[in-house]
Formats: sequence, C-alpha cells, structure tokens
Amino acid sequence: MIILVINCGSSSIKYQLLDMKSDDVYSLLAKGILERIGMPMSKLTHKPTGKDPLVLEMPVSDHKVGMKLVLDTLIDPVHGVIGSFADIDAVGHRIVQGAEYFSGSVIVDDDVIDKIRICCDYAPLHNPAHLLGIEAVSNVLPEITQVVTFDTAFHQTMEPAAYMYALPYEYYSKYRVRRYGAHGTSHLYVSHEGAAFAGIDINNSKIITCHIGNGSSVTAIKNGKSVDTSMGFTPLEGMIMGTRCGTMDPNVVTYLMKKEGLTPDQMTDIMNKKSGFLGMSEGVTSDCRDLVDRREAGDKRAKLILDKLVLDITKLVGGYIAEMNGVDLIVFTAGIAENNPWIRRDVCANFGYMGIEIDEEVNAKARRDNAIISTPASKVKVAMIPTDEELVIARDTMHLAEGRK
Ligand code: AMP
Repeated sequence: MIILVINCGSSSIKYQLLDMKSDDVYSLLAKGILERIGMPMSKLTHKPTGKDPLVLEMPVSDHKVGMKLVLDTLIDPVHGVIGSFADIDAVGHRIVQGAEYFSGSVIVDDDVIDKIRICCDYAPLHNPAHLLGIEAVSNVLPEITQVVTFDTAFHQTMEPAAYMYALPYEYYSKYRVRRYGAHGTSHLYVSHEGAAFAGIDINNSKIITCHIGNGSSVTAIKNGKSVDTSMGFTPLEGMIMGTRCGTMDPNVVTYLMKKEGLTPDQMTDIMNKKSGFLGMSEGVTSDCRDLVDRREAGDKRAKLILDKLVLDITKLVGGYIAEMNGVDLIVFTAGIAENNPWIRRDVCANFGYMGIEIDEEVNAKARRDNAIISTPASKVKVAMIPTDEELVIARDTMHLAEGRK
C-alpha cells in the first residue's frame, strides 16, 4: 500500500512517500520539503530514492498550490517515483493538537475537521496549517482516504492527577485547560521499538523516553501507556529547548509583562521563540551543535546552558522513576540525544547510585541505528533509538485505510 505522509507547517509541507507491505516491511520511495510557502520565493527539496535529488525555487502562493507541486513532483517522469496519483492509496497527516477529542488516529470526515478546528485554540500556529494541508489534499485527490495522527493522542491515558493543573477547577470545566503533552507519536514509537530491541515485554514494563531535539520532552510509560509527560497545555512546559523556556515560576510571566510593558502575544513569543538555548545565549544560537562547539572552546555560557539541559532531563527522569516506582528501560531519541553521546552519558551518570551503568565505548559509537548503551551489569537498560514519527503515521494510515476497504 502506498502511503503519503504529510506534515504541514504554517509555511511548509514536509512529505514522505512510503510503500508499506506490512508494519515492519516497507520502503521509502521519496521524501522532501517545500519551504517558504506564501513568500516571494519558495523552495522544494525533493529526494527520490535511487535518483538524484531535485531542488526547485519558484513562487508558491499557498498550501493548495504547494500540495499540487509536491504531488506533481511525485509523478514527474524524471524525478517522480510513481506513475500516477491513482498509485497513492491513502494520505496520513501529522496533527499537533487533538486535545481530549482524540486518543488515536482516525479517518478524516467533517466531524474530525470540526474538532481539529476547535483545537486550533490550543495550537494556533500548527492546527490551522494542518487543516490547510487536509484541504489541499482533498482539492487534488478528492476521493482519497485521509487519516490524521495526533501528537497528543498517546498521552490521553494520563490520569487526572498527572494532567490537571492546580488552578481553579472552573478553568478546566470552561476551557479544558490541562496538560495534553506532545511528541506522542515519537514517544509511542521509541518505547515500542526500544522494548522490542531490549527484549522487554512492553505490556509489563516501566519505560522512560527522552525525546531531546529542538523541542524536547520526557515521558513515563507504564505497560505501554503514557502515565506522565513533561509538556503540558502546550509544548512550552517542561525542560529547556532550542527557543522555549520550559517550566518556570508562572509569576515570572506577569512580572516581566508589567516591567517591560509586554502584551500577552509578545510574552508568548518571547517564551516560545526567544528563550531556551537562543535566549540564554543572548541570541547566539538555538542549535545544540553550536553550543557544544563553544563549550569545547571554553565558552562559560555555553557550558551553563548545556549543564541546565542535562539537569532538566535528570530531574524529569528521576521524577518519573519515582512516579512509576522503578524503571526497566530508558530510551534516548531525537536530534540532540541521538547525536550527542555525552548527554546520554551525563544524564545516566546521575543515576549511578541506583546501578545504571553506561558502556562508554558502545555509547560513543551509537548513532543512526538502534543501540543498547548500558552494560550487561546495569540494573536498568538504556537504549538509543532513532525516532520515526512518519512510520507510525504510515502504519496507522495503512491500517485505517485497509479497514475501510
Ligand atoms: P530535532 O528537532 O530532533 O531535529 O533536533 C534538532 C537538534 O539536534 C539541534 O539542536 C541540533 O543541534 C541537534 N543535532 C542534529 N544533528 C546533530 C549532530 N550530528 N550532532 C550534534 N547535534 C545534532
């Protein structure tokens, strides 16, 4: 079954075309990204498997035009990988926020679209773009089955004690202000993949997954179900990130707004886009690679930021070990944790007292492929598992589309 996976941002369309034979037997036919939609010059980077990549620069006015360009490229006689649109069996979309409406992937219909629209309130930058993506696909492929997979769905198994804020209850009743979490597709994938790789029965397990990338979150997973996660009402809560501040005393927000005369939108912008690595480095970088280089060159600020990164992860992992009364497996994933062995080593060193032991040599080499980085004697297994959110979306889309036939 040929599945097109789409991740629409406000000015971009990321895509992967996968030939799914089964959950575990599949091949990537092509992937790419169309960036700067709506700007004077857009850029399409298309990477067909087994063929030369294509880079196209041209104006693309909106998502509808952009989706047509992506689909036309997929069937292009030179750069394409399929013969016609009819070869695509179904389309799966990544959706950031599904709130309490969705605890799993679903086939798109009018009711689903209405609910995603209601959730725009909670994810104003993302959900409107996802809706544009669904509409753009419907425009070119009106008959195709479309499926939506939510970043929040995996965390719908959290108990109220984990998801409620200690605010007046009426704000939950009136506005559904609560913790929803994010990166659910990634935490789901790496926990299952990690358990299978480590020979652990997911249905009888305590797993902590650390998704450390530009956005970062840590999740406690008991018997395959998310019981707590560090992101909250929005993906701002939790630990330090590339441009996000993570958790702090909420009074800081009102204090700074008064002191600096900031509007709510300006404050939201500062906390989401001008904080984290970028804010603490006074605008130098939001990229972990630059911080590592600077730390190596003796830069004290870079060291402070990276020390805080390790400390934030440590506090979350420690809290979740206590919350689950133990842990069988700790998994590291996403851009930063997949590519920086020192982060995995430094976090785990903080749990030496409870018998977690890293094999330094294996850890130093672990990149790109699944790896167990703990020693055989370690009381807890530790793994590095590269995340693959697109594969989860493709699997769900395949199952739901098959069910419909
Ligand atoms: P993600 O959001 O998962 O794509 O992760 C982005 C983060 O991963 C950025 O902060 C990068 O600095 C970091 N990253 C990606 N590749 C590498 C690499 N090869 N070495 C070190 N850090 C990396």
